[in-house]
Amino acid sequence: MRYISTRHGSQGEPAPLGFEDIMLAGLARDGGLYLPAEWPQFSKAEIAAMKGLGYTELAFRIMRPFVGDTFDEATFRRLIAEAYASFETPDVAPVKPLGDSGLHLMELFHGPTLAFKDVALQLLGRMLDHTLTARNRHATIVGATSGDTGSAAIEAVRDRKTIDIFMLFPHGRVSEVQRRQMTTVLAPNVHNIAIQGTFDDCQDLAKACFNDLAFRDRHALTAVNSINFARVMAQIVYYFWAALKLGAPDRPVAFTVPSGNFGNVYAGYAAKQMGLPVSHFVVGANSNDILARFFETGVMTMSEVVPTYSPSMDIQVSSNFERLLFDLYDRNGVTLADAMTAFRSTGTLKVGANALAGVRQLFDAGRVDEPATLAAIADCYRCFGETIDPHTAVGYAVAQQHRRDTSVPMVVLATAHPAKFPDAVEKATGERPKLPARLGDLMDRAERLDGLPNDVEALKAMIDERRATSQAPVRAKVRS
Ligand SMILES: *Cc1c(COP(=O)(O)O)cnc(C)c1O
Repeated sequence: MRYISTRHGSQGEPAPLGFEDIMLAGLARDGGLYLPAEWPQFSKAEIAAMKGLGYTELAFRIMRPFVGDTFDEATFRRLIAEAYASFETPDVAPVKPLGDSGLHLMELFHGPTLAFKDVALQLLGRMLDHTLTARNRHATIVGATSGDTGSAAIEAVRDRKTIDIFMLFPHGRVSEVQRRQMTTVLAPNVHNIAIQGTFDDCQDLAKACFNDLAFRDRHALTAVNSINFARVMAQIVYYFWAALKLGAPDRPVAFTVPSGNFGNVYAGYAAKQMGLPVSHFVVGANSNDILARFFETGVMTMSEVVPTYSPSMDIQVSSNFERLLFDLYDRNGVTLADAMTAFRSTGTLKVGANALAGVRQLFDAGRVDEPATLAAIADCYRCFGETIDPHTAVGYAVAQQHRRDTSVPMVVLATAHPAKFPDAVEKATGERPKLPARLGDLMDRAERLDGLPNDVEALKAMIDERRATSQAPVRAKVRS
């Protein structure tokens, strides 16, 4: 499998890359995002033959074409098995019907940090460590989080000698549970940084580190946020998993995805490109509705981020959206690079009427404001006895507005455990959800974090300094 950047050709013609390269790099050097030059294809018969497989075997079959010979078969199976052994249930992503409504919840929050990001990051952490160990190298992860990525990434790489992780989060804008899941990890390779700014500021700071190529090379920077294609790859698996449980490949399934950076729903789009019969996707947004406005109008316009009950979706610039735009620009990396540069300076991007009509066949979108989010949590609890978190509630609400065909099962991706957002859930249902036993003492654990202004030079100085004082042999390696 060869990979290309969404902006390929915009800075000369780079050599196509393999899986290991793009996993280690995260973001492409031309500023674009990597994706496979062609999607692996599964025929109807091949998909039918996957019925009844356990999650880890299904994961192996779906992901194998993407990794090629990066890992030998036994190693790749072992990495997958170890990643998913960290989940509370061997099903990894249980699919539950909501009565006979035709709606189903796919629970993606049974991993160590209680959000869907564990599904990809538990595997990515292990793949990175394996590769770095084999190459006798060290990498530095710089990431931005609106809450859930941070803890999932930290949990995936804590205590690994091959990796240091610097995680930026917007000060005061992540929930206390989310913050503590990061800051109570006291492993020496973990560096938590509270930034005076929004999530988009954090994301811009991380991007600026990557765009400084000397800095990037000095520290072998790696991105593990959802721009890393390896995460998209691991997320493709559960779309097949749910669809197979609900009748694929003989009947289509619809998915509703509460979206922020567009990584999760893009993985569903990828599954469809690979042959999975999906009738349509519904993109759920909270009041930060840039994606919903795009699907309605074909125009993407930045505006201010407002804090909501679903902070992991408090995003204005959805980084993964560039991967979908790549297809809307007929996979022309040069015109897309121009459009993205213009978007950065003008705050507006518009696609043509034909391209818009094309995406609207496959994507619906809807937004849910704050009262409606609480009402959805209350409604799901009352009607089906299921307690859902505010992100899942956004999906639950928009799914019902966009069924299209009620005979088609609709899977709502349940992206976080309700106990991660206990205040909103308690407000909606009157009952405070309890953390699972393994996180029971989270509120009593010691925290460690640093604070920084929204200033890239201050951030780079901190990373330089921390890396200079960490393990000596690794430092020699980085300088050589
Ligand atoms: C990250 C996250 C989202 C948004 O996912 P994207 O891949 O960024 O669209 C939604 N819900 C929860 C709970 C999350 O952690």
